[in-house]
Amino acid sequence: MQEYSLQTHSYQDTETFGQNFAKLVKPGDVILLNGDLGVGKTTFTRGLARGLGISKNVKSPTFTLIREYQDGKMPLYHMDAYRLENNMDEDLGFDEYFHGSGVTVVEWPQFIKDEVPEDHISVNIKRHNEDDRDIVVKLYGKKYETRDFGAIV
Ligand code: ADP
Ligand code: MG
Repeated sequence: MQEYSLQTHSYQDTETFGQNFAKLVKPGDVILLNGDLGVGKTTFTRGLARGLGISKNVKSPTFTLIREYQDGKMPLYHMDAYRLENNMDEDLGFDEYFHGSGVTVVEWPQFIKDEVPEDHISVNIKRHNEDDRDIVVKLYGKKYETRDFGAIV
């Protein structure tokens, strides 16, 4: 398992980090965003979207559960699993996202633990104070063994 740590000192920093992250993601990647409310999960995703060349502004998927962005160099699926907990059944078709042709980003992944593929990237964001965040990236599984995210952190 590879692990990287970094700090950001503004929301722009976190967006830029997400934007750089886009250089290394591939279709079928699954990114789990862990961290409390207001820590910067959606902010990271906004940067990632920009890095993928998506022009639409990313909004929190809280009320839609999943938002799809198709106008970038690969599709981006942005999920908020917080409210999926009580909707658990195969009809939601997670596999379509997790093993599809786009990158899937999940906020509150702890609510769909059993659905998440073993090979995934976790991004843990912790609030240090108003503007400072500690970010830890972990790459789990064979799929990411040869991926060097060290170049962007
Ligand atoms: P989440 O999706 O985790 O609930 P958001 O990305 O929606 O969080 O919100 C993060 C909030 O924290 C925004 O208001 C943003 O401006 C603020 N913020 C302050 N500093 C940072 C930082 N270093 N990284 C990310 N967001 C930050
Ligand atoms: Mg959010």
